[in-house]
Formats: sequence, structure tokens, C-alpha cells
Amino acid sequence: MNIAILSRNSNLYSTRRLLEAAEERGHKARILDHLKCDIIIEQNNPLIYYKGEQINDIDAIIPRIGASVTFYGSAVVRQFEMMNVFTTTNSQALVRSRDKLRSLQLLARSGVGLPKTAFTNYSKEEKNLVEVVGGAPLVIKLLEGTQGVGVVLAETKKAAQSVIEAFHNLKARVIVQEFIKEAKAADIRAFVVNGEVVGAMKRQGKEGEFRSNLHQGGSATVVKLSRAEKSAALKATQAMGLSIAGVDMLQSSRGPLILEVNSSPGLEGIEKATNVDIAGKIIQYIETNQPKTQPRRKKISH
Ligand code: ADP
Ligand code: MG
Repeated sequence: MNIAILSRNSNLYSTRRLLEAAEERGHKARILDHLKCDIIIEQNNPLIYYKGEQINDIDAIIPRIGASVTFYGSAVVRQFEMMNVFTTTNSQALVRSRDKLRSLQLLARSGVGLPKTAFTNYSKEEKNLVEVVGGAPLVIKLLEGTQGVGVVLAETKKAAQSVIEAFHNLKARVIVQEFIKEAKAADIRAFVVNGEVVGAMKRQGKEGEFRSNLHQGGSATVVKLSRAEKSAALKATQAMGLSIAGVDMLQSSRGPLILEVNSSPGLEGIEKATNVDIAGKIIQYIETNQPKTQPRRKKISH
């Protein structure tokens, strides 16, 4: 098969591993920078040009779209979909996953556990918001944040109210969330490929830090998930319409609580912690879902 990895940087661990895994399994693979793809729209004739070259021999794409380029990246994925190219991440699911509020609403409907969360249009009712999610301590998160940046723990009601007020005055949107103390500054990342948890790790925040993000100095170890945790990860992935996802959850006294579902989950932390060839699992997923192109490839090799 001809596989394209949509990535802005060929030196990234995840990009390199996917390329390697595709080649190891006998496929032709290349990296396309989605921001350098031109989209041509015409009746019944969707086209993509890459640095001036028409792209028409791709059987499957693996989108690795960063949060800052979701708009254009998802349009490129959509164009490949128009061209009947198989994608490991559906364009609509990608867009959906990038909206924290919409994601939480969908997840809540699917019945998975979530920390109690409030979101408002810059409400002046800070006091009520704080009470609704259970009082202090509580977590305040910038809606647009990633990698732990913009996630604040407010220890008292007063502190919580002032932080919410400050963000709102800056016209920064925040979500206000119940603090899950029992998680003990750790969270779980479950990597899902095609309806199966293929690897899971526990991330522990460094000393004195409640955020477990590796980017904030957290450390990762392999973990065996309980049945409830596995089921929550699969349900959350399905609710988002994703086939590949990194599902983050907290271990609480009332079971697993989903924090977020990542549509371009990194491979480095999880492969190193678990020793599982996750890149290979992704390529395998493409192989099992790509019957359409098999006859064409056969014909060419005759
Ligand atoms: P980001 O998208 O920036 O990673 P997260 O919502 O994943 O934001 O929060 C970052 C980290 O902060 C989590 O991995 C977790 O360790 C901690 N955290 C987030 N929300 C809560 C919460 N409600 N209770 C306890 N810890 C939390
Ligand atoms: Mg996170």
C-alpha cells in the first residue's frame, strides 16, 4: 500500500516510527506536510497538490495534526476523504476532539464517568460556579490549553473565584472542574487502536505538582487497566467517533473519570513505557480496513 503520514515535522518520534513501521510491513510510505498541501475543489473532482505535484496514488493517510493547525489540517484530511482515501482519523472526529466543551458534552452523553465540570459565557456568578462543582479545591482550565499549560489548582473558594474572574476579564474561556484528590497527581493514558486498548501507562506528576503531564516533568510507567478502565477508554473513543485515540483518565473513588480524548496521541511516551509496537498496530489497522485498494495493487504487481 501507499501510505502517507500527514505531519509537519519528519524528525518527530511519532512520525519516524510510523514511517518505519509502514516500511517494515512492506508498504511504501511518505510524509506529507499538511500545510503544504493545496486543495482543489471542483465538481466531482477533488484534487490535492503537494508542492506542485498532484497526489493521486495514496491508499491511506495517518493524520498527525497539531492543535494549532486543526482548521487547515482537517480540511486536508476531508479532501483525502473526498478522494476515497482511507484515513485513520476521520476529519469530523478530529475537529470534534479539538473542542473541549463539545467533547465533554458528548462524553457525558455516552455514559462514561467525568469529573463534574462547569462552563459559562464569562459568567459573573463565580461564587455559584465554584459551589456547583463542589467547592474548593477545584481545577480551572483554559479551554485552549494543552500539555498542562493553563491548568490551575485553586485551593480555596476565594482563590478559585478570583482566578475565574481574572481569566474572564481577559476574555479567556475556562472550564471549572471538581478536583479529584484520590488521583494523587497521577493519570492514566490508554492508547486505543481499532476498538482495542493496545497499551496503557500511568503518569505521575513530579513532586509538588498536581498535573501529571510528561511536559510538566511527570514520569510514565506501564500499567494494567481494570475492566472498568478499559471499557471507559473504548466507550470514550467510540463516543468521539475516533478509531485511534489517547484517552486520559483519573482513578477516583467512583471509578475511572475521563479527562480528555486525544486524536493525535504521541507514540514516544507510550511505546517507551509499554514496549509495545504501537506504530505497528496502527499500520495493521490500516491493513485490515483497506480491502478496496488490494485489487489495484495486485494488478500493478503482475
Ligand atoms: P491538558 O490538556 O493541558 O493536558 P488536562 O485536563 O489533561 O489538560 O490536565 C492536565 C493534568 O492535570 C492531568 O493530566 C491531571 O494530572 C491533572 N488534572 C486535570 N484535571 C484534574 C482534576 N479535575 N482533578 C485532578 N487532577 C486533574
Ligand atoms: Mg492532558
